Amino acid sequence: MLKRLVPSAVLAAALAMVAVAVPLAQTPVPAPESVIGWAPCTDYKLATYESISEYFRKLDAASDRIQVYDIGKTAEGRTQILSVISSEDNLRNLARYKQIAKSLALNRDENGRPLTDERARQLAREGKAMIWVDFGLHATEIAHSQTAPWMAWKAVTEDTEEMKEIRDKVIFILVPNMNPDGGTLVANWYMKHVGKPWEMSLPELYHKYVGHDNNRDWFMFTQPESRNIARQLYEEYFPQIVYNQHQSAPYPARIFVPPFEDPANFNIPPLVMRGINTVGDAITRRLDQEGKVGAISRVSFDTWWNGGMRTAPYFHNMVGILTETGHSTPTPADNDPAKFPRRFSNGESTTEPSTFYPSPYMGGHWTLRQSCEYMMTGSMAVLDIGAKRRQEWLYDTYQMARDAMKAGANETYVIPAEQWDPNAAVRMINTLRIGGVQVERATAPFTASGKQYAAGSFLIRGAQPWMPYVRDLLNPQVYPDRRLYPDGPPEPPYDISGWTLNMQMGVAVDKVTNAPVTVQTEPVTTASIPAGVVSGTAKAAYAIDPRSNEAFIAINRLLKGGDVVYRSAAAVDAGGKSLPAGTFLVVAGQGTQARVEQAAKALGLAIAALDANPAGDVMRVKAPRVGVYNPWGGNMDEGWTRWVLEQYEFPYTTLRDKDIRAGSLRAKFDVILLPDASYEQMVSGLAPGSMPEEYVGGMTARGVTNLFQFASDGGTLVAQDSASELPIATFGLPIRNSVASLRSNEFYIPGTLLRMTVNNTHPVAWGMPKEIAGFFVHSPVFEVGRRRGRFEEDAPASGPTPATAGVNVVATYPGKDLLMSGWLMGERYLFNKASVLEAAIDKGRVILLGFRVEHRGQPHATFKLLFNSIYLGASEKATMGQRQTEAARR
Ligand SMILES: [Zn+2]
Repeated sequence: MLKRLVPSAVLAAALAMVAVAVPLAQTPVPAPESVIGWAPCTDYKLATYESISEYFRKLDAASDRIQVYDIGKTAEGRTQILSVISSEDNLRNLARYKQIAKSLALNRDENGRPLTDERARQLAREGKAMIWVDFGLHATEIAHSQTAPWMAWKAVTEDTEEMKEIRDKVIFILVPNMNPDGGTLVANWYMKHVGKPWEMSLPELYHKYVGHDNNRDWFMFTQPESRNIARQLYEEYFPQIVYNQHQSAPYPARIFVPPFEDPANFNIPPLVMRGINTVGDAITRRLDQEGKVGAISRVSFDTWWNGGMRTAPYFHNMVGILTETGHSTPTPADNDPAKFPRRFSNGESTTEPSTFYPSPYMGGHWTLRQSCEYMMTGSMAVLDIGAKRRQEWLYDTYQMARDAMKAGANETYVIPAEQWDPNAAVRMINTLRIGGVQVERATAPFTASGKQYAAGSFLIRGAQPWMPYVRDLLNPQVYPDRRLYPDGPPEPPYDISGWTLNMQMGVAVDKVTNAPVTVQTEPVTTASIPAGVVSGTAKAAYAIDPRSNEAFIAINRLLKGGDVVYRSAAAVDAGGKSLPAGTFLVVAGQGTQARVEQAAKALGLAIAALDANPAGDVMRVKAPRVGVYNPWGGNMDEGWTRWVLEQYEFPYTTLRDKDIRAGSLRAKFDVILLPDASYEQMVSGLAPGSMPEEYVGGMTARGVTNLFQFASDGGTLVAQDSASELPIATFGLPIRNSVASLRSNEFYIPGTLLRMTVNNTHPVAWGMPKEIAGFFVHSPVFEVGRRRGRFEEDAPASGPTPATAGVNVVATYPGKDLLMSGWLMGERYLFNKASVLEAAIDKGRVILLGFRVEHRGQPHATFKLLFNSIYLGASEKATMGQRQTEAARR
């Protein structure tokens, strides 16, 4: 629910009281400096989110041209706000204009029926353009958050013809800060350290969990800020243009403005792409009209990837605009043209005019204020073209919705009720729902394409306005093979190349394309978890199926409650149903029944009561003592790891370099996680002089020795993705990274879903299917049986990975067809190599998870590799041989 921060009744009462004493007058509209203490974008000053949001509240209190709304809490509990600016008349009729935008965007009239073209024209004539401009997403890119109060003040108070027309024709949705926590963190750090070399470098992530990846969360919606914003985009305002600002212009350009670089994602509607070019052109023209030089287009930033704040809206028929302005600090700088790089990454000169860089920036003194002025110009251009082409923007969204519904008429995605992990299917449906996907649930069994489906199966029809979003998330990405020159190195995508959601989440989805699926359905608002049930009162133990990720939440709760938990190494017969290896066995003790029932109900688990303990080997799982290594400087993979652990209720302790250097780790921990980081980053850390003393220096060789000692003493060291370099380089394991020295024109996998074969009889892979899609992003590839050779040439594999004593292969790349979604080059270098290994070290072990098992909180299908590794480390019995010990010591 939305809540006005200043209820209009209170405001009216206040005004009425004033009216008694003086002639009716509004509170004077405050300028930003009167609240913040300095004019926005003043040198050497940064305003916190608190200060900026206080300004917005005061503006709201003083003017009827702005309304400020509370849109939810942030990760650290701040209140995130959104403002709506328009004429007094428009704001009085805001509900009507929102309704029009929604009707057109969803192609749906008041009765839920599709619009006619004629009706859509009428609505477009009546409606107002909904134009979204947000500020402050990436917190170390500071100019936009500082510009927000200035932009709001200008839009509310300025009475030029242009601004009056904008207020008349546009509903301006201004989000002052997309990451309030980061805004305050960076402002406080800068103001404290201004003048130091580290004034703009933080020792930690600028968002509690995800840092810079807060712009990688826009279809997964894992973070509260992403969900706050998604509600506004896809349920409240349905903007036609979404303008998202950043600050990484390719130097020395002053601002990047669309058109974007190729490749373009094939699912983006042409009217979106044309709209992007139109708006981009409006921005660059205006910049040059105002004498603001150095705007560049068609370089670096492409439209391939879904998941960014400006890219996810493409698939919702919204025109997403990104600009990247230069100079992200309140400290002024002098730019010397003699030191400019000669060319941009697209090959064009940095000093001579070209088609998409016609007014080169030639250097000189530069201040934050200038960057903010570029952003003001960008925002004004977007608002202006929003006003001028108001009816077109509105009608376009209808046209795209209408055409999408037609194009997807015969296309249905069926999510069968029967799933490996039914809870994952529920999580996927609810994730898609946040993105505005229309979902139905079958109320009866049905047949489609000759296959039978049970009642309760979900259906996602192509015949919906945001069909491009559905198609993009539920099909493999086929990235075009693009090279910098023929047979040359690949032209890398801006971000990742493949992200197919159902593959990442391990959810079976059948695509039916021959005809619409006919079955009785009900609409799904939020998918509910399966009804949890405990089959009775156990005499011996309760068996919990490890295939559901939710089982791990249940076990963490039961361990916390003091229950005794085992895992079976063999399949368990539970009342005629066979549960796989790794099944959890919770001993029936005092109060266990109630705790198990509570877990079953809360988590949607079917738990079997056993009257006798199953035969076969078991392992005792104790409450794990987990340390998560967190290197200074902010490591996003560490943040995501921490976030996933919290979601699944694993307790953990953060380990800093000094903790690793101090040693005695085994006494405190069963498991230590090393999130993705290079050997150099971990061992050397931040360079001396680059940050205050307490943050520099890394874990050092002493830390590496302590980690080895930890494993040797019986601990479990889990190295994630490239962090596996540390144990491989220093622990003397018979393992090498066989792609370490390949060149990028031989081997290049930039963020791709790869097929992997899993040995699910191994404790690290218990509860997993035999085949998974793993997220590979410049990851290592393991070859067992060969030590890292100093002068060795890397060669493609000639046979299967040899089994080596003390090393257990948990997951491998098959000998063909590795590509599941995205793009890869040099597939053969992976054939039959390993992606996940467990290697013995004396009394303990190292587990190498050689890809991103928890990447950006998305691949639910591979979370278990992390969870199982933790439980294995906290298990009472070692299950592996000890023969590797000698080798490891050498
Ligand atoms: Zn950015």
